[in-house]
Amino acid sequence: MNLAESAAMVRTLEERSWQKAKDIGDADLVIVNTCSVRQTAEQRVFGRLDLLNALKRKAVTGRGSIGGRPFKVLVAGCMASRLGEKLKADFVMGTIEKANFPRILEKVEKEGLDNPTPHSLSVDEMASAFAFSPLHYEEGAVRSFVPIMHGCDSFCAYCIVPYTRGREVSRPPSDILAEIRALSAKDVREITLLGQNINAYQWNGISFNELLEMIAQEIEGMEGGIHWVRFLSSHPKNFSKKTVEVMTRHRCFCRHLHLCVQHGSDRMLTAMNRRYTSAQYLALVDQIHTALPDVTLSTDILIGFPGETEADFEETLDLMRQVRFLYAYTYHFNPREGTAAFSLPDRVPDEVKLRRLSAIIALQKNITTELLNARIGGRVTVLVEGLSKKNTDELICRTEWDEMVVIPGDSSRIGEFVEARLEALNGNTFRGKELKE
Ligand code: SF4
Repeated sequence: MNLAESAAMVRTLEERSWQKAKDIGDADLVIVNTCSVRQTAEQRVFGRLDLLNALKRKAVTGRGSIGGRPFKVLVAGCMASRLGEKLKADFVMGTIEKANFPRILEKVEKEGLDNPTPHSLSVDEMASAFAFSPLHYEEGAVRSFVPIMHGCDSFCAYCIVPYTRGREVSRPPSDILAEIRALSAKDVREITLLGQNINAYQWNGISFNELLEMIAQEIEGMEGGIHWVRFLSSHPKNFSKKTVEVMTRHRCFCRHLHLCVQHGSDRMLTAMNRRYTSAQYLALVDQIHTALPDVTLSTDILIGFPGETEADFEETLDLMRQVRFLYAYTYHFNPREGTAAFSLPDRVPDEVKLRRLSAIIALQKNITTELLNARIGGRVTVLVEGLSKKNTDELICRTEWDEMVVIPGDSSRIGEFVEARLEALNGNTFRGKELKE
């Protein structure tokens, strides 16, 4: 979501003739787009702000090697929502206040850099309501994010998102379709619809599944442009079998789902307020595999939630062995102030959390390697995303199952769909060979 929102900010800047600075010493405005999900990410932002403020002081005193000119600092994102004016910045713009961005730019443009501007916009200058950005396109990209929802009403006990991004707001289908048409005209080949709990999308009686149907019809009626559609994240409690039916009907939906499980123990799932059991999750996975046998699944797993026992942890390992996720984002419990879990007793000691997390990561690594090895020799269609960073004679590509493949080739192929054979595995990336016939 932050990547999509950063791309939208870059577009607004470019529309107002701002240019990317070579480095901080050359910048008029420094934007720090922040995440609050983990403490460590916030700590890094505090460090960055201290550095920026030191450079600003040097600009005033004329001392120091860089920062010889004044600049403004804007903190955007979830930390701005959570901490507001406690942050040491010229402007703070929480996720719900994104519509203020052009007004902040206008203020900097009008008042210049030498005038000490107020800490943020005055009430009169603020936009009155949350608004989605119209376009989240990054220049030259073949894949793009399309946010369709903002906020979350689920209140998982460990999660800060409902407090920083607020209640669920769905984006009007007409705006979503307009963005999809604009992306297609820019030769984007793949879009990922975004929402914190995307299955809860609801706009004036239009459900998520109805929106998917509208998007599929729009894409099928297009010449060229977008071919593949993904969506994330799916919450098991809201995932309906109608979603699978729409995916089965329309081939534009990639055969990959990110279905967050978080834990394998019902006791922990209840404590986390996830509102499904592991049996219900497994039944949902069965249902998905019956309708879409080749679908790959990925997930999030949270280990070390307060009260987690060795038996709870073992149940998570069991669930992972049963589902065999292609990959999993694994993390340990990190208390976030303001969430229901912040004050829960019975915290799992750090060394236990880290041991369990290592075991989860090791198991997932084995499963991923087994699944990927079994694919060697197969023929796949890949989307060429760009040049390999390691070798510019090679191209980085992705399958619809969200597997990475490297094939030989040059930049003229970026954006093409290519038939390839998977020949070998290097870490989690395939080496492939293009099939010409
Ligand atoms: S569904 Fe739960 S984990 Fe996901 S954003 Fe909402 S509260 Fe957080």
